[in-house]
Amino acid sequence: MVLNEDKKTEFVNSLENGRSVHAYIVEGAEGSGKEDFAKFCAAVLVCTGDNKPCGKCPSCKKIAGGGHPDIAVIEPPKDRKTISVDEVRRLRRDTAVLPNEGGRKVYIIKKGELLTDQVQNAMLKMIEEPPSFVTFFILTSKREALLATIRSRCQTVRLNAMNERDILEHLKTEYPKLDVETLESAASRCGGRIGRAVELLGKENKEMHDVVLKLLDALILPTGSRFELDTYLLGLKYKRETYCALFDEALLALRDLLLQKCGSRIERLFFEPEEMKKYVRLCSKESLVRFIRTVEDVRDKIDKNVNLNAALTHLTLELWNAK
Ligand SMILES: [Zn+2]
Repeated sequence: MVLNEDKKTEFVNSLENGRSVHAYIVEGAEGSGKEDFAKFCAAVLVCTGDNKPCGKCPSCKKIAGGGHPDIAVIEPPKDRKTISVDEVRRLRRDTAVLPNEGGRKVYIIKKGELLTDQVQNAMLKMIEEPPSFVTFFILTSKREALLATIRSRCQTVRLNAMNERDILEHLKTEYPKLDVETLESAASRCGGRIGRAVELLGKENKEMHDVVLKLLDALILPTGSRFELDTYLLGLKYKRETYCALFDEALLALRDLLLQKCGSRIERLFFEPEEMKKYVRLCSKESLVRFIRTVEDVRDKIDKNVNLNAALTHLTLELWNAK
């Protein structure tokens, strides 16, 4: 494993030097390996062997087998963005119960940036004075989204973007069956975020990539029309979150085009080099900036639950006017 190796070593050293704390905030961009890092730390905490995580003791074997009863990953249910106050109360009761196996219980709380103030306030007491055998990891893409009272009670670990070579090495071990070219392409386009690289390798992402290209065709190529853009976009009939994911992809594509237009050498995150040529000469920097603002604006609105179809129609109209 090469992911965030330096931070993992730091964590192990801090435990050996008796500097462990009972609550950590793990901060890093989407796809930077926060969960992987927290699970590694959890493995170190519950491992009963030497040279933790030893990979050989019963605890390590349970983790490798897919689950350890004293390590819990808490994430919002599928239909909601965040856990509820009730769920926090349940969690708090659970923290009071002694570990099943060894000496420690670990709770990994995902999507810290989406926790409401109410939920965070409910968590406060639990994080402040947990039983001595409990350790929390709150994962977040934005530390500032957490209340100051939570932040002050946790130690923060910041995960950095990783270099392309390390990501490629990791992908090679995780995806031995994929050809090196595909892996290299994902490693170079993921912006230092391993999770993004994995996403790029997924079939779903390939589909979404193609959808973005179709939308760009309708918007930018002379053969496109507003009608085509409108019917194609609405015809996708995605769920709200999938449209948000689509617009995130589209924003990466527009960003790439703008960088290309400005002659920047910053790495591209969406396009393969050949793909972007046909669009670049047909759009101006100004129109690209307007496209980006429009898509960002509508993406935020969709995220905030406005009427989906109305927002999509508004988007195509605004994009067309922004040309
Ligand atoms: Zn072990």
